[in-house]
Amino acid sequence: MPASVFDDLVGQERVAGFLRTAVESGSTSHAYLFVGPSGSGKRSAALLLACALVCDDGGCGTCAACARVRRGAHPDVRVVSPAGAKGYLVEQVRDELVPDMWLAPADGHAKIYILERAESLGDAAANAFLKTLEEPPPRVTNILLTDDYDSVIPTITSRCQVVRFSPVPPQRAVALLAEHTGAGEDEALAALAASSGVLPRALEFLRSPARREARDHVLAVLRDLPVMDGRDILVSARDLLREVKAPLDELKERQVAELRERVEFMGKAAQTRDVEQRHKRELTAREREAVLEIVAVVESWMRDVLAASAGAHGVANRDAADDISTAAGCMSQAAIQAGLAGVARARRRVSYNVSPQLAVEVMLFEIQEARTCPRSWESP
Ligand SMILES: [Zn+2]
Repeated sequence: MPASVFDDLVGQERVAGFLRTAVESGSTSHAYLFVGPSGSGKRSAALLLACALVCDDGGCGTCAACARVRRGAHPDVRVVSPAGAKGYLVEQVRDELVPDMWLAPADGHAKIYILERAESLGDAAANAFLKTLEEPPPRVTNILLTDDYDSVIPTITSRCQVVRFSPVPPQRAVALLAEHTGAGEDEALAALAASSGVLPRALEFLRSPARREARDHVLAVLRDLPVMDGRDILVSARDLLREVKAPLDELKERQVAELRERVEFMGKAAQTRDVEQRHKRELTAREREAVLEIVAVVESWMRDVLAASAGAHGVANRDAADDISTAAGCMSQAAIQAGLAGVARARRRVSYNVSPQLAVEVMLFEIQEARTCPRSWESP
Protein backbone atom coordinates (compact mmCIF):
# COMPACT_ATOMS: atom_id res chain seq x y z
CA MET A 1 0.00 0.00 0.00
CA PRO A 2 1.32 3.47 -0.79
CA ALA A 3 1.95 5.89 2.05
CA SER A 4 -1.16 7.69 3.20
CA VAL A 5 -1.77 10.45 5.70
CA PHE A 6 -4.20 8.14 7.45
CA ASP A 7 -1.25 6.01 8.59
CA ASP A 8 -0.69 8.81 11.10
CA LEU A 9 -4.09 8.36 12.68
CA VAL A 10 -2.42 6.30 15.35
CA GLY A 11 -4.71 4.45 17.74
CA GLN A 12 -7.81 4.98 15.57
CA GLU A 13 -7.13 2.33 12.94
CA ARG A 14 -10.81 1.61 12.37
CA VAL A 15 -11.58 5.26 11.65
CA ALA A 16 -8.44 5.55 9.51
CA GLY A 17 -9.48 2.56 7.40
CA PHE A 18 -12.99 3.91 7.01
CA LEU A 19 -11.87 7.38 5.89
CA ARG A 20 -9.18 6.03 3.64
CA THR A 21 -11.63 3.75 1.84
CA ALA A 22 -14.06 6.65 1.40
CA VAL A 23 -11.35 8.84 -0.11
CA GLU A 24 -10.03 6.10 -2.40
CA SER A 25 -13.48 5.24 -3.69
CA GLY A 26 -14.41 8.92 -4.11
CA SER A 27 -17.36 8.49 -1.78
CA THR A 28 -16.57 10.91 1.00
CA SER A 29 -19.53 12.61 2.61
CA HIS A 30 -19.98 16.38 2.41
CA ALA A 31 -20.74 16.51 6.13
CA TYR A 32 -19.12 14.56 8.96
CA LEU A 33 -19.61 14.63 12.69
CA PHE A 34 -16.52 13.31 14.50
CA VAL A 35 -17.49 12.17 17.97
CA GLY A 36 -15.08 11.08 20.68
CA PRO A 37 -13.58 11.98 24.04
CA SER A 38 -11.28 14.95 24.23
CA GLY A 39 -7.79 13.84 23.23
CA SER A 40 -8.90 10.99 20.98
CA GLY A 41 -7.55 12.74 17.88
CA LYS A 42 -10.71 14.05 16.18
CA ARG A 43 -9.12 17.30 15.14
CA SER A 44 -6.01 15.57 13.83
CA ALA A 45 -8.21 13.16 11.90
CA ALA A 46 -10.14 16.09 10.41
CA LEU A 47 -6.89 17.67 9.25
CA LEU A 48 -5.73 14.37 7.76
CA LEU A 49 -9.02 14.03 5.88
CA ALA A 50 -8.52 17.61 4.68
CA CYS A 51 -5.06 16.60 3.39
CA ALA A 52 -6.62 13.72 1.50
CA LEU A 53 -9.19 16.03 -0.10
CA VAL A 54 -6.82 18.81 -1.22
CA CYS A 55 -3.90 16.57 -2.23
CA ASP A 56 -3.45 15.39 -5.84
CA ASP A 57 -2.62 11.92 -4.57
CA GLY A 58 -5.43 11.46 -2.09
CA GLY A 59 -3.34 12.41 0.94
CA CYS A 60 0.28 11.42 0.30
CA GLY A 61 1.29 13.29 3.45
CA THR A 62 4.45 14.71 1.88
CA CYS A 63 3.49 17.07 -0.97
CA ALA A 64 3.32 20.85 -0.58
CA ALA A 65 -0.49 20.83 -0.19
CA CYS A 66 -0.43 18.14 2.54
CA ALA A 67 2.39 19.95 4.33
CA ARG A 68 0.48 23.24 4.28
CA VAL A 69 -2.62 21.64 5.75
CA ARG A 70 -0.58 20.08 8.53
CA ARG A 71 1.02 23.40 9.35
CA GLY A 72 -2.40 25.03 9.48
CA ALA A 73 -1.52 27.28 6.56
CA HIS A 74 -3.62 25.94 3.67
CA PRO A 75 -5.98 28.62 2.32
CA ASP A 76 -8.79 26.13 1.63
CA VAL A 77 -8.78 24.44 5.03
CA ARG A 78 -10.40 26.41 7.82
CA VAL A 79 -10.63 25.53 11.47
CA VAL A 80 -13.62 27.40 12.86
CA SER A 81 -14.36 27.95 16.52
CA PRO A 82 -17.30 29.68 18.20
CA ALA A 83 -17.03 33.48 18.06
CA GLY A 84 -19.23 34.01 21.10
CA ALA A 85 -18.41 33.21 24.69
CA LYS A 86 -21.41 30.86 24.79
CA GLY A 87 -21.09 29.40 21.32
CA TYR A 88 -21.43 30.09 17.63
CA LEU A 89 -23.12 33.38 16.83
CA VAL A 90 -25.85 33.47 14.23
CA GLU A 91 -24.04 36.37 12.46
CA GLN A 92 -20.85 34.31 12.41
CA VAL A 93 -22.61 31.50 10.58
CA ARG A 94 -24.94 33.55 8.37
CA ASP A 95 -22.65 36.44 7.39
CA GLU A 96 -19.20 34.87 7.47
CA LEU A 97 -19.12 31.10 7.33
CA VAL A 98 -21.83 30.35 4.77
CA PRO A 99 -20.89 33.13 2.28
CA ASP A 100 -17.24 32.04 2.54
CA MET A 101 -18.22 28.53 1.48
CA TRP A 102 -19.57 29.91 -1.78
CA LEU A 103 -16.21 31.40 -2.77
CA ALA A 104 -14.19 29.14 -5.07
CA PRO A 105 -11.30 27.22 -3.50
CA ALA A 106 -7.97 29.05 -3.80
CA ASP A 107 -6.22 25.94 -5.07
CA GLY A 108 -9.08 24.56 -7.12
CA HIS A 109 -9.59 21.20 -5.39
CA ALA A 110 -11.75 21.39 -2.35
CA LYS A 111 -12.63 23.49 0.66
CA ILE A 112 -12.79 21.97 4.09
CA TYR A 113 -14.33 23.54 7.17
CA ILE A 114 -13.51 22.00 10.52
CA LEU A 115 -16.02 23.23 13.11
CA GLU A 116 -14.85 22.78 16.65
CA ARG A 117 -17.31 22.19 19.49
CA ALA A 118 -20.33 21.39 17.36
CA GLU A 119 -22.36 21.13 20.58
CA SER A 120 -22.14 24.91 20.86
CA LEU A 121 -24.12 25.45 17.68
CA GLY A 122 -27.31 26.69 19.33
CA ASP A 123 -30.74 26.72 17.70
CA ALA A 124 -30.37 30.07 15.92
CA ALA A 125 -26.84 29.45 14.62
CA ALA A 126 -27.78 25.91 13.61
CA ASN A 127 -30.83 27.13 11.70
CA ALA A 128 -28.65 29.53 9.74
CA PHE A 129 -26.41 26.61 8.84
CA LEU A 130 -28.74 23.66 8.16
CA LYS A 131 -29.43 24.26 4.50
CA THR A 132 -25.75 24.72 3.64
CA LEU A 133 -24.77 21.74 5.77
CA GLU A 134 -27.25 19.57 3.90
CA GLU A 135 -26.48 20.88 0.43
CA PRO A 136 -23.14 22.64 0.50
CA PRO A 137 -21.59 24.29 -2.55
CA PRO A 138 -19.71 21.80 -4.74
CA ARG A 139 -16.32 20.72 -3.39
CA VAL A 140 -17.12 21.87 0.15
CA THR A 141 -16.80 19.41 3.04
CA ASN A 142 -17.84 20.24 6.59
CA ILE A 143 -16.29 18.30 9.44
CA LEU A 144 -17.93 18.97 12.80
CA LEU A 145 -16.20 17.89 16.01
CA THR A 146 -17.72 17.15 19.38
CA ASP A 147 -16.96 15.22 22.53
CA ASP A 148 -20.59 15.33 23.56
CA TYR A 149 -22.84 13.77 20.93
CA ASP A 150 -26.00 14.11 22.99
CA SER A 151 -25.61 17.89 23.23
CA VAL A 152 -25.48 18.39 19.47
CA ILE A 153 -28.80 19.50 18.03
CA PRO A 154 -30.50 16.54 16.29
CA THR A 155 -31.12 18.52 13.09
CA ILE A 156 -27.34 18.81 12.84
CA THR A 157 -26.50 15.18 13.67
CA SER A 158 -29.09 13.89 11.22
CA ARG A 159 -27.40 15.75 8.38
CA CYS A 160 -23.92 14.38 9.11
CA GLN A 161 -22.19 11.07 8.74
CA VAL A 162 -21.22 10.21 12.31
CA VAL A 163 -17.71 8.83 12.91
CA ARG A 164 -16.90 7.62 16.41
CA PHE A 165 -13.47 7.77 18.04
CA SER A 166 -12.55 5.67 21.04
CA PRO A 167 -10.11 6.54 23.82
CA VAL A 168 -6.67 4.93 23.66
CA PRO A 169 -5.29 3.59 26.97
CA PRO A 170 -1.93 5.22 27.90
CA GLN A 171 0.09 2.01 27.74
CA ARG A 172 -1.16 1.26 24.27
CA ALA A 173 -0.44 4.87 23.26
CA VAL A 174 3.20 4.47 24.30
CA ALA A 175 3.50 1.20 22.40
CA LEU A 176 1.93 2.72 19.26
CA LEU A 177 4.26 5.72 19.34
CA ALA A 178 7.28 3.43 19.69
CA GLU A 179 6.05 1.32 16.81
CA HIS A 180 5.44 4.32 14.52
CA THR A 181 8.52 6.40 15.27
CA GLY A 182 11.07 4.10 16.86
CA ALA A 183 10.95 6.32 19.95
CA GLY A 184 11.97 4.77 23.24
CA GLU A 185 9.50 4.51 26.10
CA ASP A 186 10.95 7.60 27.81
CA GLU A 187 10.55 9.73 24.69
CA ALA A 188 7.05 8.43 24.01
CA LEU A 189 5.94 9.25 27.56
CA ALA A 190 7.41 12.75 27.31
CA ALA A 191 5.71 13.32 23.94
CA LEU A 192 2.32 12.30 25.34
CA ALA A 193 2.81 14.54 28.36
CA ALA A 194 3.65 17.52 26.14
CA SER A 195 0.63 16.82 23.93
CA SER A 196 -1.95 16.46 26.72
CA GLY A 197 -2.24 12.79 25.79
CA VAL A 198 -3.45 13.42 22.22
CA LEU A 199 -1.81 10.62 20.28
CA PRO A 200 -1.51 12.16 16.78
CA ARG A 201 -0.14 15.35 18.34
CA ALA A 202 2.40 13.28 20.27
CA LEU A 203 3.41 11.68 16.98
CA GLU A 204 3.95 15.14 15.46
CA PHE A 205 5.87 16.16 18.56
CA LEU A 206 8.33 13.31 18.12
CA ARG A 207 8.89 14.42 14.53
CA SER A 208 9.24 18.11 15.33
CA PRO A 209 12.68 19.26 16.51
CA ALA A 210 11.20 22.71 17.28
CA ARG A 211 8.54 21.33 19.63
CA ARG A 212 11.05 19.08 21.38
CA GLU A 213 13.35 22.03 21.85
CA ALA A 214 10.52 24.11 23.29
CA ARG A 215 9.76 21.35 25.78
CA ASP A 216 13.42 21.16 26.84
CA HIS A 217 13.32 24.91 27.32
CA VAL A 218 10.24 24.69 29.58
CA LEU A 219 11.92 21.98 31.66
CA ALA A 220 15.08 24.10 31.98
CA VAL A 221 13.02 27.07 33.19
CA LEU A 222 11.27 24.86 35.78
CA ARG A 223 14.64 23.55 36.98
CA ASP A 224 16.08 27.06 37.34
CA LEU A 225 12.99 28.72 38.83
CA PRO A 226 14.26 28.72 42.44
CA VAL A 227 17.27 30.86 41.50
CA MET A 228 15.45 33.22 39.13
CA ASP A 229 14.52 36.79 39.96
CA GLY A 230 11.43 38.58 38.68
CA ARG A 231 13.15 39.86 35.58
CA ASP A 232 14.48 36.39 34.70
CA ILE A 233 10.94 35.05 34.85
CA LEU A 234 9.55 37.77 32.59
CA VAL A 235 12.32 37.17 30.06
CA SER A 236 11.83 33.37 30.22
CA ALA A 237 8.09 33.70 29.64
CA ARG A 238 8.70 35.99 26.68
CA ASP A 239 11.30 33.65 25.15
CA LEU A 240 9.11 30.58 25.63
CA LEU A 241 6.19 32.29 23.92
CA ARG A 242 8.33 33.51 21.06
CA GLU A 243 9.56 29.97 20.55
CA VAL A 244 6.14 28.29 20.46
CA LYS A 245 4.58 31.05 18.35
CA ALA A 246 7.26 31.10 15.65
CA PRO A 247 5.40 28.60 13.42
CA LEU A 248 2.46 31.04 13.23
CA ASP A 249 4.39 33.44 10.98
CA GLU A 250 3.32 31.38 7.99
CA LEU A 251 -0.34 31.67 8.94
CA LYS A 252 0.05 35.44 9.27
CA GLU A 253 1.56 35.63 5.78
CA ARG A 254 -1.33 33.62 4.39
CA GLN A 255 -3.80 35.99 6.03
CA VAL A 256 -2.08 39.08 4.59
CA ALA A 257 -2.15 37.49 1.13
CA GLU A 258 -5.84 36.65 1.45
CA LEU A 259 -6.73 40.18 2.42
CA ARG A 260 -4.67 41.60 -0.43
CA GLU A 261 -6.38 39.30 -2.93
CA ARG A 262 -9.80 40.31 -1.70
CA VAL A 263 -9.02 44.01 -2.06
CA GLU A 264 -7.55 43.49 -5.54
CA PHE A 265 -10.54 41.44 -6.61
CA MET A 266 -13.26 43.67 -5.23
CA GLY A 267 -11.61 47.07 -5.43
CA LYS A 268 -12.37 49.91 -3.09
CA ALA A 269 -15.79 48.52 -2.21
CA ALA A 270 -14.16 45.49 -0.55
CA GLN A 271 -15.55 44.74 2.87
CA THR A 272 -12.60 43.50 4.86
CA ARG A 273 -13.83 43.80 8.39
CA ASP A 274 -15.34 40.31 8.58
CA VAL A 275 -12.21 38.76 7.07
CA GLU A 276 -9.99 40.61 9.49
CA GLN A 277 -12.13 39.48 12.39
CA ARG A 278 -11.96 35.87 11.22
CA HIS A 279 -8.18 36.13 10.84
CA LYS A 280 -7.89 37.46 14.34
CA ARG A 281 -9.95 34.56 15.67
CA GLU A 282 -7.89 32.01 13.72
CA LEU A 283 -4.67 33.47 15.01
CA THR A 284 -5.90 33.66 18.60
CA ALA A 285 -7.01 30.03 18.48
CA ARG A 286 -3.65 28.87 17.16
CA GLU A 287 -1.76 31.01 19.67
CA ARG A 288 -3.84 29.55 22.44
CA GLU A 289 -2.92 26.05 21.29
CA ALA A 290 0.76 26.94 21.24
CA VAL A 291 0.59 28.42 24.73
CA LEU A 292 -1.34 25.43 26.05
CA GLU A 293 1.56 23.26 25.03
CA ILE A 294 3.78 25.16 27.48
CA VAL A 295 1.08 24.71 30.11
CA ALA A 296 0.82 20.97 29.34
CA VAL A 297 4.54 20.45 29.89
CA VAL A 298 4.46 22.41 33.16
CA GLU A 299 1.40 20.48 34.31
CA SER A 300 2.97 17.09 33.59
CA TRP A 301 6.12 18.19 35.44
CA MET A 302 4.12 19.27 38.48
CA ARG A 303 2.19 15.99 38.41
CA ASP A 304 5.50 14.18 38.33
CA VAL A 305 6.61 16.17 41.38
CA LEU A 306 3.40 15.17 43.11
CA ALA A 307 3.92 11.50 42.24
CA ALA A 308 7.58 11.59 43.33
CA SER A 309 6.68 13.26 46.59
CA ALA A 310 4.11 10.54 47.28
CA GLY A 311 6.83 7.95 46.69
CA ALA A 312 5.25 6.63 43.51
CA HIS A 313 7.49 5.06 40.91
CA GLY A 314 7.60 6.31 37.37
CA VAL A 315 7.32 9.85 36.10
CA ALA A 316 6.29 11.04 32.63
CA ASN A 317 9.32 13.30 32.21
CA ARG A 318 12.02 10.75 32.90
CA ASP A 319 14.78 12.90 31.41
CA ALA A 320 14.04 15.43 34.17
CA ALA A 321 13.73 12.83 36.95
CA ASP A 322 16.59 14.30 39.02
CA ASP A 323 15.14 17.82 38.97
CA ILE A 324 11.71 16.42 39.76
CA SER A 325 12.97 14.52 42.76
CA THR A 326 14.86 17.62 43.96
CA ALA A 327 11.65 19.66 43.73
CA ALA A 328 9.67 16.91 45.45
CA GLY A 329 12.22 16.85 48.26
CA CYS A 330 11.75 20.49 49.15
CA MET A 331 8.04 20.99 48.49
CA SER A 332 5.26 20.12 50.88
CA GLN A 333 2.07 18.47 49.57
CA ALA A 334 0.27 21.77 50.06
CA ALA A 335 2.93 23.61 48.06
CA ILE A 336 2.71 21.10 45.21
CA GLN A 337 -1.07 21.43 45.19
CA ALA A 338 -0.67 25.22 45.14
CA GLY A 339 1.63 24.88 42.11
CA LEU A 340 -0.87 22.62 40.33
CA ALA A 341 -3.66 25.07 41.10
CA GLY A 342 -1.54 27.79 39.48
CA VAL A 343 -1.24 25.65 36.36
CA ALA A 344 -5.00 25.07 36.26
CA ARG A 345 -5.59 28.83 36.56
CA ALA A 346 -3.16 29.42 33.69
CA ARG A 347 -5.10 26.97 31.55
CA ARG A 348 -8.34 28.81 32.32
CA ARG A 349 -6.79 32.22 31.69
CA VAL A 350 -5.56 31.13 28.28
CA SER A 351 -9.02 29.79 27.41
CA TYR A 352 -10.56 33.08 28.50
CA ASN A 353 -8.26 35.03 26.22
CA VAL A 354 -6.08 36.60 28.90
CA SER A 355 -2.79 37.69 27.29
CA PRO A 356 -0.67 34.53 26.90
CA GLN A 357 2.41 36.40 28.13
CA LEU A 358 0.59 37.35 31.31
CA ALA A 359 -0.85 33.85 31.83
CA VAL A 360 2.57 32.19 31.50
CA GLU A 361 4.30 34.82 33.67
CA VAL A 362 1.78 34.48 36.47
CA MET A 363 1.97 30.68 36.30
CA LEU A 364 5.77 30.73 36.62
CA PHE A 365 5.60 33.21 39.50
CA GLU A 366 3.06 31.06 41.31
CA ILE A 367 5.12 27.91 40.90
CA GLN A 368 8.22 29.73 42.06
CA GLU A 369 6.39 30.93 45.12
CA ALA A 370 5.14 27.40 45.81
CA ARG A 371 8.64 26.00 45.38
CA THR A 372 10.37 28.45 47.65
CA CYS A 373 7.65 28.56 50.25
CA PRO A 374 8.63 27.04 53.56
CA ARG A 375 7.35 23.61 54.44
CA SER A 376 5.54 25.41 57.23
CA TRP A 377 2.62 25.73 54.76
CA GLU A 378 1.57 22.41 56.19
CA SER A 379 1.67 23.54 59.82
CA PRO A 380 -1.44 25.27 61.10
ZN1 LIG B 1 -0.23 15.17 -0.70
